[in-house]
Amino acid sequence: MAPACEHQKTTIIARRDGIDYVECLDCRQIFEAEDLEPVAVEADED
Ligand SMILES: [Zn+2]
Repeated sequence: MAPACEHQKTTIIARRDGIDYVECLDCRQIFEAEDLEPVAVEADED
């Protein structure tokens, strides 16, 4: 199992309705920049 990513490196990928969406460069997770909550997905499929 990989250790939990702390999402230290992110980049803004989109902006919509005043919300910035950022992507973690390490784990490719997508977040809303406002709350940095990961779009929770059971990502254990590979
Ligand atoms: Zn990450």
